[in-house]
Amino acid sequence: MSDCIFCKIAAGEIPSSCLYDGDGVYAFKDINPQAPVHFLVIPKEHIGSAAEITPENSHIISKCFEVISSLAKTQGLEKGFRVITNCGSDGGQTVPHLHFHVLAGKKLGERLV
Ligand code: AMP
Ligand code: ZN
Repeated sequence: MSDCIFCKIAAGEIPSSCLYDGDGVYAFKDINPQAPVHFLVIPKEHIGSAAEITPENSHIISKCFEVISSLAKTQGLEKGFRVITNCGSDGGQTVPHLHFHVLAGKKLGERLV
């Protein structure tokens, strides 16, 4: 999608702090971290949100989680981490390109809401 900021980041058209690039998946540090470790994992192809996951594109979701598992090891997250995807306006999504937040580096609260 030509005007999508995360499509542009995945294509290298907007700079980011890249942690992984390959297999249709891109991972980069969040520009406004909410925890000591906060990065985003996205499919390089444009999928608007979790509400747009289908049998045709869901293979990339498992790839995203393979990358999350791999980065958890290389980024030293052996004490644990949290994966969040916000979906739609009630879900608090602000960037309309599917992304998984990975948060870690401190003991996160047990409650989300
Ligand atoms: P969400 O509110 O779930 O849609 O999350 C969007 C996330 O994208 C927020 O945590 C932002 O800080 C992050 N973000 C927005 N623009 C950029 C950018 N250019 N580089 C890195 N992270 C970004
Ligand atoms: Zn996009």
